[in-house]
Amino acid sequence: MTTTEWAGAAAIVDGPGGYTGIEATPEWAEEVRRLARERNATLLAHNYQLPAIQDIADHVGDSLALSRIAAEAEEDTIVFCGVHFMAETAKILSPNKTVLIPDERAGCSLADSITADQLREWKAEYPDAVVVSYVNTTAEVKGLTDICCTSSNAVDVVASIDPDREVLFLPDQFLGAHVKRVTGRENMHIWAGECHVHAGINGEELAAQAKSHPDADLFVHPECGCATSALYLAGEGFVPDDKVKILSTGGMIDAARATGAKQVLVATEVGMLHQLRKAAPGIDFQAVNDRASCPYMKMITPAALLRCLRDGKDEVHVDPAVAERARLSVQRMIAIGNPGGGE
Ligand code: SF4
Repeated sequence: MTTTEWAGAAAIVDGPGGYTGIEATPEWAEEVRRLARERNATLLAHNYQLPAIQDIADHVGDSLALSRIAAEAEEDTIVFCGVHFMAETAKILSPNKTVLIPDERAGCSLADSITADQLREWKAEYPDAVVVSYVNTTAEVKGLTDICCTSSNAVDVVASIDPDREVLFLPDQFLGAHVKRVTGRENMHIWAGECHVHAGINGEELAAQAKSHPDADLFVHPECGCATSALYLAGEGFVPDDKVKILSTGGMIDAARATGAKQVLVATEVGMLHQLRKAAPGIDFQAVNDRASCPYMKMITPAALLRCLRDGKDEVHVDPAVAERARLSVQRMIAIGNPGGGE
C-alpha cells in the first residue's frame, strides 16, 4: 500500500471474468504511471491487448519482440500485459528480473492443448525424434523441447533438422500442416492442438470475405492460433495468391503504410486493428472475423493493471532448471531463419 494511493483504486472487483470496476480515465492513467515509476517497472503490452492498455504501455509489440525488450530494459521489474506463456518467456529470457502479469489466469487455449506429461509420453513413443514447439507453449513444455519456432521460421527450423530424424511438431496442427506441406517431410508427427478461441476463421469465411471485397488487400498475421488456419487455407488456394500478404506484426504495419488499397481485410486477433488504424488512419481496416477476440488477452483490464502495480501481483516464477533448458530451445529458435516476433 502506498501512502498517496488514489482513492479510486478501492473500486477494484475480482469477478469471474477477471478484475473489473475501474474505467481507463485520465486519473487511472496518472496513477498507473506513478505506481510504475515507484516500482521502477516498464510496461509491455501485446498487440492483442485492450486499446487502453496498449495506449498506456511503454512498448507494444508481439511476444518475442517484447521478451527481447524485457531482457534489455534498465528497469528491474517487467509488467507483461499479455497471456501467461508470454510472461513466462520474458522470465526465461530475463531470469534476474521480477516479471509481473496483471492476471495470472490469462491463459492460452493453444498452449494448454499439450501438457508437459503429455509431451513426455509422446517423446517416449519416439525416443529419437527432434521436438519442435511453437512459441505458444508453457515454460515446462519449452523445457522438454529441442527447438522452439515462430510461424515465420517454422519451415526453416524443420528444414534444418537431419532428414533422417523424426520430428514431433506441437501444439498447433494448422501450422504443422503448413510446414509439412511446404517441406514435403513425411517423418513429421503433428500434435492435434488448436486455438479454440478462433476456430471461426474458416475457409468459407475467408473466401467469402475476399470475394465480397474484391479491391481489398488481405493481411494474414499467422503468429496466433486464430490465423494459422488462414495461413493454411491461403496455401490451399481458398483465396487468390496475389491478394494475400502473410505478415509479421511489424510487416503488417509497414504494409499498411505502403499499400494503395483503401480497404484491408485482416485475419488475426481484433486487437491488432488498433495499431493498424493508428499507423494508417486513411485505410478502412476490417476483421475477417470480428468474433476473433481472445478473452484471455482481454483479462488484462485497467483494474487488473492497477492492482498489479499497487500490490506487485501476480509474479511469474519459472523453476530455474526448467528455465535453463527452455532458454536453450528459445535461443536455437532465434538463431534459425527469421523468427519474426512470435504471436
Ligand atoms: S488468441 Fe488463441 S493462441 Fe492467441 S493467446 Fe488467445 S487463446 Fe492463445
